[in-house]
Amino acid sequence: MLYDRILVRFGDLTLKGKNQKMFLKSLYHLVDLKMKGLNVLIEYQHDRIFIHLNEEDKDKVIERLNLVSGISSYSLVVKCSTDINDIKETSLKLMKDVVKNELTTFKCNTKRADKDYPIASLDVTKKVSGYVLSNHKLLKVDVHDPEVELNIEIRKDGCYLYNQNFEALGGYPVGVAGKGLLMLSGGIDSPVAGILAMKQGVEVECIHFESTPLTSIESAQKVVDLAKKMARYSKDDRINLHMVPFKEIHMAILDNIPESYTITIMRRMMYRIASGLALKKNCICLINGESVGQVASQTLQSMSVINSVTNMPVIRPLAIFDKKDIIKLSTKFDCYDLSIKPFEDCCTVYIPKTPSTAPKIDKAETFEKAFDYESMVREAIENTRSISIDKDSDLDLPLLGLEVRDVLDEILAKK
Ligand code: ATP
Ligand code: MG
Repeated sequence: MLYDRILVRFGDLTLKGKNQKMFLKSLYHLVDLKMKGLNVLIEYQHDRIFIHLNEEDKDKVIERLNLVSGISSYSLVVKCSTDINDIKETSLKLMKDVVKNELTTFKCNTKRADKDYPIASLDVTKKVSGYVLSNHKLLKVDVHDPEVELNIEIRKDGCYLYNQNFEALGGYPVGVAGKGLLMLSGGIDSPVAGILAMKQGVEVECIHFESTPLTSIESAQKVVDLAKKMARYSKDDRINLHMVPFKEIHMAILDNIPESYTITIMRRMMYRIASGLALKKNCICLINGESVGQVASQTLQSMSVINSVTNMPVIRPLAIFDKKDIIKLSTKFDCYDLSIKPFEDCCTVYIPKTPSTAPKIDKAETFEKAFDYESMVREAIENTRSISIDKDSDLDLPLLGLEVRDVLDEILAKK
């Protein structure tokens, strides 16, 4: 393979005016962190990053690059000098490497980042494609729908040749937008919502409401496993997971609240606890996987009754997504197979037969008076157990016990 480095682009970032410096610094740092342990050399330029592959496996580098938010696209490239004869020769070598057996259509494009370069872009294209065509018998020009492209990028320090432009995660370097608290269930939606928020620059901590042993410890393990998947997108490959003991509130709701309002009230309690914990952890917004219309608790009216318990901004990255598009993202982020494992959590255990799709705030408030929820919310926050989950963590809750809190207390005591 002729390619010896990867050219990394960060499109949107260049548009960010005064913030540009800060974004770039964060991006450089993030790329540095994500490439740790690989035998590569990273060269930073003001509008590009070059990752020299040395002897490193390109697929390993690409796998890591795909986890870096703030990168818009990348290409495997080969570098040569800006001497036109060198460009011609290297282009021919590259095309011989790429097209070996069958007649293939191709197109050549030239871009000059160095405007002082003495030959105009179109002339470079003509000279190089003419040379390549007359020395490679399997190539035919097709400028409209070519099978292979030869891209020439001329910069001050040299000329870069590549065939493909791969789309990367996009967005902004994780962390530049401040910190949010993701309500992480074991379902399909919330991990996707969390990763989309991270991609947009938000550092994420996760909160999970667990009702063990009312719900199985396996359902909590699923959340740990999803947190591991999310950790791959964070700066340091770790993510904080806050496990809230929710069983008491869960039981109080089932005992005291009319069936059609159990889900509404349960979610109001979750929002209250999440808001309280967010303040403690310096998170300035809540994030969740709600999507308009998906279930009874996600009609606009339900969402508004639920949302009314907090002043904190609530980001819903999936609010207007179709489920099929969410599934596509879940698959892309490698969460889907985990998310569809069939363990129930507190929202799916004892599902009411006829949940209200149009609850009223005053009714919800009246029903809630049936138990002393304020002290229970306070206690739930106080008794929350927090762990930092590494992307490669081998934490195995079911091996250790039946109730999440006992298990975590044991782990935390050992530290
Ligand atoms: P998901 O939405 O993740 O696929 P779900 O569809 O089962 O799971 P819903 O009942 O639709 O979850 O809840 C909507 C959102 O509320 C979830 O996306 C998640 O952000 C939050 N949520 C639900 N249950 C929990 C929980 N046990 N702990 C933390 N957050 C939760
Ligand atoms: Mg959902």
